[in-house]
Amino acid sequence: MDKDLIIGSHVGFSANKQLLGSVEEALSYGSNTFMFYTGAPQNTKRNPIKDEYTMEAYNLMKENNIDLSKVVIHAPYIVNLGNLENVSFLRGELERASLLGIKNVVLHPGASVSFARRDSIESIIKGLNLILDNDLDVTICLETMAGKGTEIGINLNELKTIIDGVKFKNKIGICLDTCHLNDSGIDLTKFDDYIKEFDKEIGLNYIKVIHINDSKNAIGSHKDRHENIGLGTIGFDTLIKIIYDERFKDIPKILETPYVTENDESKEKIYPPYKYEISMIRNKQFDNNLLDNIRNNR
Ligand code: FE
Ligand code: FE
Ligand code: ZN
Repeated sequence: MDKDLIIGSHVGFSANKQLLGSVEEALSYGSNTFMFYTGAPQNTKRNPIKDEYTMEAYNLMKENNIDLSKVVIHAPYIVNLGNLENVSFLRGELERASLLGIKNVVLHPGASVSFARRDSIESIIKGLNLILDNDLDVTICLETMAGKGTEIGINLNELKTIIDGVKFKNKIGICLDTCHLNDSGIDLTKFDDYIKEFDKEIGLNYIKVIHINDSKNAIGSHKDRHENIGLGTIGFDTLIKIIYDERFKDIPKILETPYVTENDESKEKIYPPYKYEISMIRNKQFDNNLLDNIRNNR
């Protein structure tokens, strides 16, 4: 078992326990880091942060060796920086992150709605420059996107263009997502080639978070449907190589794999897969009965 590995999953952030509930959920999966939305992922309604929960959460993290600097917030995925209301929401999100002591906020760069991609990229840059400054010790990590619909940030060139336009470069980073990379057309069996290219174009120091997901679809499908670890087109061995890549030893790895349904695929009962996936990853051993073991809590 690798004690140094920094691994966790997406967890909830409930109104009644806030960060404390997130830490408890992460611990129940055997995680030593985690990622959460500060409210619903699909809207921008948010409750004020309550310090008493934050303090209790810090104590629990300390007892369990969870390093706060590796914990991640995911901004809601509807944020469109062409819209000024969204710009001020995202600034508020950074302020909430700062109140919680969290350093990295992952952002889907946006989607091109009514105009050309180049114009959308310009409005993303403008929005980021309205938000980022040196007053807050929080970095926005642009996620590598699958290319579903009109998503922006689907290749190194687009991500580089955004970073080039941002004034506070120490406040911008990248979150790699293995499912999105696969679906955008990157063959992850050649991860090393991608990383070399990334280093040349952008610089490896920009990588702050890695989302670990298998994919339901083929390379270049532009779909963005996550699959459980080892059950998708990327596969267990390729994901393990990425997870244990020495260059990213200090980077948090976050699972966003789907909850498991009953065999008949009804959604009446769903089970979080993370405890099982994290244990497979720590043991570097794929479990052929993964889904049944999740369903039966074995
Ligand atoms: Fe994401
Ligand atoms: Fe992701
Ligand atoms: Zn995705």
